[in-house]
Amino acid sequence: MTDLPVRIRPEIAALPAYRQGKQAGADAFKLSSNENPFDPLPGVVEAVQRAHGFNRYPDATASRLRARLAERFGVTDDHVHIAAGSVSILFQLAQATSGHGDEILFSWRSFEAYPSLPVVAGAHGVTVPNDAAGGHDLDAMADAVTDRTRMIIVCSPNNPTGPIVTQEGFDAFLTRVPADILVVLDEAYAEFVTDPAAVDGARVLAAGHPNVVVLRTFSKAYGLAGLRVGYAVGDPRILGAARSTGIPLSVTAAAEEAALASLDAEDELKVRVAELAIRRDELATRLRGAGWEVPLAQGNFVWLPAGDRALEVAAAFEEAGLIVRPFAGDGVRISIGEAESVDRIVEVAARVAP
Ligand SMILES: *Cc1c(COP(=O)(O)O)cnc(C)c1O
Repeated sequence: MTDLPVRIRPEIAALPAYRQGKQAGADAFKLSSNENPFDPLPGVVEAVQRAHGFNRYPDATASRLRARLAERFGVTDDHVHIAAGSVSILFQLAQATSGHGDEILFSWRSFEAYPSLPVVAGAHGVTVPNDAAGGHDLDAMADAVTDRTRMIIVCSPNNPTGPIVTQEGFDAFLTRVPADILVVLDEAYAEFVTDPAAVDGARVLAAGHPNVVVLRTFSKAYGLAGLRVGYAVGDPRILGAARSTGIPLSVTAAAEEAALASLDAEDELKVRVAELAIRRDELATRLRGAGWEVPLAQGNFVWLPAGDRALEVAAAFEEAGLIVRPFAGDGVRISIGEAESVDRIVEVAARVAP
């Protein structure tokens, strides 16, 4: 660290650089970033083209999108906060709640962005291992709460392993968490969930838990990962604090237009999401048949618990033109992509089965 030109906070200098899912060659399938394989929903490209006034700053709160989302959740506009991806809201909430000596608690393995949150905020990350099925152990998480805990993240379905948190489990968890601790329910994959027992952020908010903030995104089911729009729903005072830490004016007019047009195309969205969910279930079943213990898959991805062989297994997929996401020493996540990718995935998976 002595080779730095200026003094950088050591914990920041030690952070691993963000590693994007590999780009795929022309004949390869990119299944490494949980992106949507479909083109934008009907009307989206036109809406982006209609967005004008690029010499002007965008509407700071994306108020039209905010109003639309508020209506869906049955809340007033101030209960919705839009940002350039829900990941940026995670950082905002971490900064707003946690500082030196405070703790941010989450299950692990989970979303790769989580470990950076406490580091950037100057706080301390506390992790609780996933249960044997790859899901959250909410009892152990409640046990891990201390008087320094300021933010707890619950990811359902859990990226990258796939299982959901149940509504019953989440409700019970909330009764054990002090009401002055922020609980973030990260539902980036909510639209793909088919298990009726799953927690639903809208239902949690309707039941009245002012310490819960629900995160959703247009990046996954809505297929707008490249335009960067995500949102939070929750108590206006918490969202106001988050907004105070954020970089102003990050949601572009084009992104807002695209999100609005995507909401207009909900019928088509449902068709596509249903198709991906069916493809996911079929793939998971076939992978299990090939000898892999695939956990419950409720997002747009499946998890191969490859353990120490993760890198080797991912290399075998890559060789076959399938770009997947390995997590060294742990497993391999495969996103649900084009229908043509499925047979090839199963073929390779069978060859490298445990
Ligand atoms: C993809 C993802 C997000 C959302 O990312 P944005 O593109 O920033 O909206 C949030 N949480 C999890 C768990 C994800 O996998």
